[in-house]
Amino acid sequence: MPELPEVETTVRDLRPHVEGRAFAAVHVEIPRMVHAPAPAEFVRALPGRSITMLQRHGKFIIFQLDHGALVAHLMMGGGFLWKQPGDEPTTYTRLTFGLDDGTELRFVNPRTLGGVWLVDEPGTVVGHLGPDALDAAFTLAYFAGKLSGRSAPIKPLLLDQGLVAGVGNIYCDEALWLAGLRPERKAGSLTSEEVGRLHAAVLEALQKGVRLRGTSFDTYVNPGGDKGEHQDQTNVFRREGKPCPRCGAIVQKIWFRGRGTHFCPNPACQA
Ligand SMILES: [Zn+2]
Repeated sequence: MPELPEVETTVRDLRPHVEGRAFAAVHVEIPRMVHAPAPAEFVRALPGRSITMLQRHGKFIIFQLDHGALVAHLMMGGGFLWKQPGDEPTTYTRLTFGLDDGTELRFVNPRTLGGVWLVDEPGTVVGHLGPDALDAAFTLAYFAGKLSGRSAPIKPLLLDQGLVAGVGNIYCDEALWLAGLRPERKAGSLTSEEVGRLHAAVLEALQKGVRLRGTSFDTYVNPGGDKGEHQDQTNVFRREGKPCPRCGAIVQKIWFRGRGTHFCPNPACQA
């Protein structure tokens, strides 16, 4: 699914096209993807509102408006395409947002699990999230405090959006490999040196993803309709059966707590 780097790429690419613009007509193909308000009210209330700033928190896109905010989440793939008037229709377009310069945003979502909210205050939707993983608020001290004494394995904690927002399965496995830590290690068993390594590895894995404009193992595409490049440059994710880039042992995939989990089995490499 789109994680922080994919959503960050989307926001960076869309920003110059949408900030300062106003919404025009909105078309909803799948009403249940409008989570708030009711779809009829949504298409009535959004046109005319202008976009003052485009932001991101974790995997959520936030259009700050002259009043209120439009919040969007892609969930399991797809993308937010920016299109010119008269461009060819795009398969799986579920919502279409006209802009006042005639261009349009297409919310493309093959599995229809994504959605949008028009709210007075974005905190209504994203208030339950922990700090964004690339925000200054995600400090080592904060992270260490959240892991301390926990008997839970480290992987599900990294995926817990209430602890840190933006990390999903791909970047979690990559960060744990970078840090040399096994996904099932109990969080409270990590030394402070290991917690420091993991914090740095989370940032490094996500920054690499942003630099490569995201991962497109799934249907994710950026606003121009192109795939990312990170899927060709992972260390362990979807590289089971191939040599570990660090030690040469064969990368394994296991199912851990319902998630496909990739790691190097050599204890000298990931322990
Ligand atoms: Zn290895």
